[in-house]
Amino acid sequence: MPRRRSNALLRSAALFTSVLAVALASCSVEATTTVAGRTTIVCTTAMIGDVVEEIAADDCDVVVLFGPDVDPHLFRPTRDDVSTLMRAAVVIYNGFHLEGHLTESLVRVAEADVEVVALAERSVEGDEILEDGGAPDPHVWMDPSLWLRTTDVVAGIVAEHVDGDRSAIDERAARVAERLALLDAECAERLSAIPAERRVLLTAHDAFGYFGRRYDVTVEGIQGVSTASEAGLRAIQELVALVVERRLPAVFFESTVSERNVAALVEGANAAGHAVRIGGVLHADAPGDAVTYEGMLRHNLETIVSALAPPSAGGEASR
Ligand code: ZN
Repeated sequence: MPRRRSNALLRSAALFTSVLAVALASCSVEATTTVAGRTTIVCTTAMIGDVVEEIAADDCDVVVLFGPDVDPHLFRPTRDDVSTLMRAAVVIYNGFHLEGHLTESLVRVAEADVEVVALAERSVEGDEILEDGGAPDPHVWMDPSLWLRTTDVVAGIVAEHVDGDRSAIDERAARVAERLALLDAECAERLSAIPAERRVLLTAHDAFGYFGRRYDVTVEGIQGVSTASEAGLRAIQELVALVVERRLPAVFFESTVSERNVAALVEGANAAGHAVRIGGVLHADAPGDAVTYEGMLRHNLETIVSALAPPSAGGEASR
């Protein structure tokens, strides 16, 4: 944790102590049961929640903390969110600093004997982890062949915390993994139809690193891997040059990130004599109106193929 945050930690210590006291008082027997007696698993993102919900089925309650349009890099928990976390049997978050402003709360929750699991950190290792400027890139879910690894970890967590039949839990986990493997194969096949020089994804922030590595797509984000840092903003001119040089037909918005920077890029390319259009809105850090994690991947696949593939490859005509 960066040193400069220690003041904030001290300031919030008193608040957390009182929240903790209330939470502990309301958990008379053990922290693993809710008031209604059912086990609750709290997940931060929908990408985690979808996997957990399907594997846990009806054996427990699953709460997803972030709404469908929430930017996880910027999310700050309210007191209600902290109580929700405190009531959980286990909290499953992504990790790799995706949920930067949740760190202090997660520390407090762990101190209150709630199990806290960083799902992405537990599911990938070594060279599989992409780095950006020395920090790990948290957007692991963008590669479904990696995200399907979370199913084993989640099955273990669910089996540990609920009374469900272990073989049924494992069966549901295998079903999710199989579906993600099929989706991965579909992404690979459809994206390979885009000519290599046009297989460039230019978006608002660097959320597509894992996606790009898996499907051989060059990825350029205007902001860095976190939307929390304006310092990561790249010179628009550099990216305009890339768009013009490659004659890219389209660049993309992201549903949780401001459109301002992408719009500036389009204007720059137009001014340089190359008409580039907005290829659509991609969902990177939250599913938005695509509702689910898999819906989000499918939406992105359709949007990218339509915008970048030539008509013969099944994409929209680029006029
Ligand atoms: Zn992101």
